[in-house]
Amino acid sequence: MCESVPPECLPAPERAVQRPLARRRVLMGLGGLLLASCMPTSVAQQRRQARGPDGSAPCPPPARPPSQPAPPPYVVVPRAGWGAESLKDNHDPMERITRLTVHHTAEIAGMGERTDADLMKGIQDFHRNKRGWADIGYHFVIGRDGKVYEGRGLSIQGAHAGGGNNKENLGISVIGDFSTAMPTSAAIRTLSRFLRAAQQRYGIGMDQVYGHREFKATACPGDSLFSWVERYRARA
Ligand SMILES: [Zn+2]
Repeated sequence: MCESVPPECLPAPERAVQRPLARRRVLMGLGGLLLASCMPTSVAQQRRQARGPDGSAPCPPPARPPSQPAPPPYVVVPRAGWGAESLKDNHDPMERITRLTVHHTAEIAGMGERTDADLMKGIQDFHRNKRGWADIGYHFVIGRDGKVYEGRGLSIQGAHAGGGNNKENLGISVIGDFSTAMPTSAAIRTLSRFLRAAQQRYGIGMDQVYGHREFKATACPGDSLFSWVERYRARA
């Protein structure tokens, strides 16, 4: 019997094979942590590797090589998965990551009836086309479904904390208004896992995990979610 592979680690074939090589390399930066570890090779390669010597039924290898990072403990939706528009040229490179900042998207018109993927398109349209930024401002966004939606990508400095505060600063936002309410349990579980994984990947201490309001006068990420950030930082 084959060991099953978590479905979240099996991206749609067209996404895996269509992703440009350069972009996949960028993702490897957070790789083991996020998307790339779920797609270390093309689907065709995976199938070749998994197929038995007689070419019989595809079967995942029984164990990962020791050098291969564990898959992320959450589902990652790549840009193609939510219909992102392309990155524009007016951006700065992200040379390294030394801090993490948590945001909320706040209320978005019609969000009760819209999917997380549709909301991603709306946020990107606002940031990229209305505000004129290169792309959606956040590096990643967590949906109400608990999935991590890929934002502008880690090779690009974010546009989420204001001016120089964006330098070396990974921006993660959660869909919703968390002034009084809390994110869904799925979203908060993913946020916790995401932060922990990013801290481990980049060697970031608890004192470098922020809520947006610590950089400027803003309610973001809302009183409830900011209280959660404070409790998160207090963990051993
Ligand atoms: Zn914010």
